[in-house]
Amino acid sequence: MARLELNNLHAEVAEGDEKILEGVDLEVESGEIHALMGPNGSGKSTTAKVIAGHPAYEVTEGEVLLHLEEDEFGDEIEIDEDQRSWNLLELEPNERAALGVFLAFQYPAEIEGVTMTNFLRTALNAKIEEREELFEDDEGEDEEEEDDGFETSPMEGPADEGEVGVAEFQQILQEKMEQLDMDERFAQRYLNAGFSGGEKKQNEVLQAAILEPSIAVLDEIDSGLDIDRLQDVSDGINALRDEQGTGVLQITHYQRILDYVEPDHVHVMLDGQIAKSGGPELAAELEDKGYDWVREEVYGTA
Ligand code: ADP
Ligand code: MG
Ligand code: MG
Repeated sequence: MARLELNNLHAEVAEGDEKILEGVDLEVESGEIHALMGPNGSGKSTTAKVIAGHPAYEVTEGEVLLHLEEDEFGDEIEIDEDQRSWNLLELEPNERAALGVFLAFQYPAEIEGVTMTNFLRTALNAKIEEREELFEDDEGEDEEEEDDGFETSPMEGPADEGEVGVAEFQQILQEKMEQLDMDERFAQRYLNAGFSGGEKKQNEVLQAAILEPSIAVLDEIDSGLDIDRLQDVSDGINALRDEQGTGVLQITHYQRILDYVEPDHVHVMLDGQIAKSGGPELAAELEDKGYDWVREEVYGTA
């Protein structure tokens, strides 16, 4: 069980002083689905990017904390009492990911000759390695890693200790792809080469399924999807929650995906703050009435 906590988060554009987030408070726990809604320009994507550690934004006040339970990673890693709370703002993006916070990767450029399979396996192993480093006891008792003298590419080399090997990964991938109803040829396609918008979104959910995050932040994963693909992507998000207990912060401008991924909590962002929170009925109300009534209710003006 993990809990992501945003406390009074203020952020502005790093190059300049335009304020964007003006005191965001939000908590997302494993197993919960939160919808973050709001009009264009209200600060939803900035919230996601600040959680991810995007360098375009500077946090001027407030906190982003991640709390982990003792058994967060099963028996894979023991977490001491003093390692249960992390200030994400002090960590690099890959360290945040290693702690179990998933943010869709900025889509990497096409890389010639790298299949989706190799890319995803590399991402998983990088996460495992980073996590071991984060929780390593700092008394230096760990044995020195043996160097066998062979240079191998991380994309093709044999699995090191603790890494997921090629055969094992094939199995994981196949299972996740079946869950998402993805065409198996997808795994052999080259990274990013000619993926449609819908395939990229599906790919994002596949990546989350493989990395098994405790908290996933999905920004407009529903944009530009036709109804069949929306259904597949939604099934994937529900599976993250139901099968591995991921907590989801689902950022969306439209209510439509919430018919397929039912949120436990709905938040409305206005002008860089969470102006109103409620249950799934709030999303339906927004669908009917738009956002202006929330503004009126909160500020007394439209
Ligand atoms: P949303 O995702 O809710 O549509 P954003 O978080 O993308 O909103 O943007 C919130 C506001 O901050 C907008 O007015 C946007 O123009 C501004 N903004 C976001 N990122 C930047 C940036 N890197 N530079 C300048 N302005 C930005
Ligand atoms: Mg708080
Ligand atoms: Mg946005």
